[in-house]
Amino acid sequence: MEVKTIDKGYYDVVVVGGGIAGVSASVSASRLGAKVLLIEKQINLGGLATGGLISWYEPLCNGKGEQIIGGIAEELIKLSVKYSYDSLPKAYGGTDKSFPRTDRYGDRYATKFSPCVFSLALDEFVISNGVDVLFDTYATYPVTENNSVVGVIVENIDGRCLFHTQKIIDATGNALIMQRAGVPCRTGKNYMTYLVHSIDEEVIKEYNNDKCAWKLRKWEAVGADRLGKGQPQGMGTFENPTASEVTDFITEGKRRMLEKLKARDRYSYEVMSIPTIPQLRTIRQIVGDADFNGITDETYTDSIGKVSDFRAGKEGSVYQIPKGALYNSQFKGLYAAGRIISAPTHDGWEVSRVIPVCAFTGETAGKLAVLGANN
Ligand SMILES: Cc1cc2nc3c(=O)[nH]c(=O)nc-3n(C[C@H](O)[C@H](O)[C@H](O)COP(=O)(O)OP(=O)(O)OC[C@H]3O[C@@H](n4cnc5c(N)ncnc54)[C@H](O)[C@@H]3O)c2cc1C
Repeated sequence: MEVKTIDKGYYDVVVVGGGIAGVSASVSASRLGAKVLLIEKQINLGGLATGGLISWYEPLCNGKGEQIIGGIAEELIKLSVKYSYDSLPKAYGGTDKSFPRTDRYGDRYATKFSPCVFSLALDEFVISNGVDVLFDTYATYPVTENNSVVGVIVENIDGRCLFHTQKIIDATGNALIMQRAGVPCRTGKNYMTYLVHSIDEEVIKEYNNDKCAWKLRKWEAVGADRLGKGQPQGMGTFENPTASEVTDFITEGKRRMLEKLKARDRYSYEVMSIPTIPQLRTIRQIVGDADFNGITDETYTDSIGKVSDFRAGKEGSVYQIPKGALYNSQFKGLYAAGRIISAPTHDGWEVSRVIPVCAFTGETAGKLAVLGANN
């Protein structure tokens, strides 16, 4: 049977993946006047941050009172709490409703947010910024001629469709489009994680004490620890996982969670949200023209700006990110955004994969695509 490809017209920039990086990339390109299409395989925006129930926006500051990241990353931290609760300190515009503070970050420019309300607000954000969005649409392959982008193939309820474009921003979280275009990639290791949000009498009591709604969401995780302790027997560390290994990762997480729940009085709790995206941290990243290594005194002539480090003990650490980490110039018209930028060291990938830095590299990828860098 021959599968017909439906021609869907032209966009200046196509962004694949509606996580934090893709949202930021699409809005930044649109604000520069480009006609932008954002393609998301699920039906909600936010990716891991919302559908993966992460719901903790790592800091925009350096942990010593200095704000490092601004731009769309700052717009998004504000949006994440605009229509719902926050745990932002007063110094950063918070309501202080969350006090007494219980998180480990003290007065950082970081916050808890409602994954559901933030995701709804992201729709409003991208649409009001003139971005066209296609949900429930899976981008399968880039179309290239002589290593230059000329289009992208997607599958959805309409069938197999082709969008013509010379610029694709890969914000898939696993570099699917760039890898399929032939861009060399590196893979990362992942340990088991399955995180849900639940509610029970204990958290309701806590909520009643200070009327702080984020306390109604209890984060409950099963899986291994960072050293891989607790990794299911016979399972590896999920490096470069195949489709069936991703399925194992998910089903084993669900099985363990259900076992945990079976031990409870079934009338005493509710699971409010389960993840809709695999909670894999580091799947695949591109090999770019330059590497972001997460070294404080590394400077670049093509630096795109500075980011901070979310990790405890790294207060004050600030890093430049080189522009070349967002593309491989052998492949024209392709840009990486978010947790797939070229960051080969442990520190580089750790720093670049968190929400504010994904927003920052997303915003930059949108600008590079419109301005024609690497094209
Ligand atoms: C367990 C865990 C805990 C974490 N904790 C924190 C934390 O506390 N704070 C923090 O700031 N960060 C945290 N992170 C990291 C952070 O949440 C993510 O790395 C970041 O949100 C990634 O954003 P992204 O946009 O690059 O990718 P993603 O969020 O993965 O977005 C990619 C999007 O692309 C879509 N997509 C993929 N392929 C296709 C395709 N072919 N066609 C169409 N759409 C596609 C996906 O559905 C998804 O919506 C955590 C991550 C994990 C896994």
